[in-house]
Amino acid sequence: MLKILVVGSSNTDLVLRSTKLPKPGETVTGGEFFQFQGGKGANQAVAAAKLGGQVSFLAKIGDDAFGKQALAEYQTYGLDTKHVFIDSTAATGVALILVDENGENSISVASGANANLLPEDILSAEELIRSSDLILAQLETPLSTIEALSDLAFRHQKKMILNPAPVTDLPQKLLQKLYFITPNEHEAAYLTGEKVDSVDTAKRSAEILTGQGVKNVLITLGALGSYYLGEEGEFHTPAPAVKAIDTTAAGDTFNGAFVVALAEGRAFDEAIKFASQAAAISVTRMGAQVSQPFRKEVSI
Ligand code: ATP
Repeated sequence: MLKILVVGSSNTDLVLRSTKLPKPGETVTGGEFFQFQGGKGANQAVAAAKLGGQVSFLAKIGDDAFGKQALAEYQTYGLDTKHVFIDSTAATGVALILVDENGENSISVASGANANLLPEDILSAEELIRSSDLILAQLETPLSTIEALSDLAFRHQKKMILNPAPVTDLPQKLLQKLYFITPNEHEAAYLTGEKVDSVDTAKRSAEILTGQGVKNVLITLGALGSYYLGEEGEFHTPAPAVKAIDTTAAGDTFNGAFVVALAEGRAFDEAIKFASQAAAISVTRMGAQVSQPFRKEVSI
């Protein structure tokens, strides 16, 4: 089993579930409140650990109650948290998440300590990077940090998977160092200027990204599944049909599961089927990390 390093954000998610999302200026009453650990980095790290991956998490949290709670919870999932840095100058990141009865969500984030995860933190973890095999990152920490990570990963010939969320313009020299990029349809559209809402349009968008030097492109399409283009050809993987009640961490579960399947040495088509099943399970349950399946729940 290859070693996985996840680099990214750690947030506390404050979730309010109501019949509908409020419009600007509107108040919707009658909701139910939940508190969960979240942040794309932590969600992906926990997803991978719950599915049996050997996972280290590199992140930054505040010296506060939310941060302490987060750390304790990550450790119960078996994550190596030696590189979760504690920042005494900022609060742990917080996400306010509104969910409607159809599972649609609306999210606002105060990144706090996540914004202080800097290139120097990556450099201080060179030994961890050297001893990892697969590196998974997102964009809820500064882009310069992710660029520093891609440089070190490349130098040590490690395979880096970037889930470009939330999306921003990416320099070509970063794209060229990636083993995989895993945008959702909106992120793929932003990165390529192509509308992405079907398998055919995803193919066009993926061709642009491979043209920019990414070896493997995997575009997730929500309930339509995902589209892959790269070293192992091209294919569409349908999503299992389920009743979605909260899609909050679908993409994160998908990415965490995908990296575990790669760590097990599976071919890309098998790894994507594994990720699709894990993500489909997560959308049938409320929350981020608590909604993610354990290994025994995934049958592939
Ligand atoms: P989020 O931002 O909600 O975490 P995302 O937009 O990054 O998710 P999606 O493309 O919506 O990512 O979903 C990722 C994967 O999760 C999909 O490729 C699919 O396999 C699975 N998935 C998402 N929604 C559903 C659904 N309604 N039913 C089954 N599988 C789903």
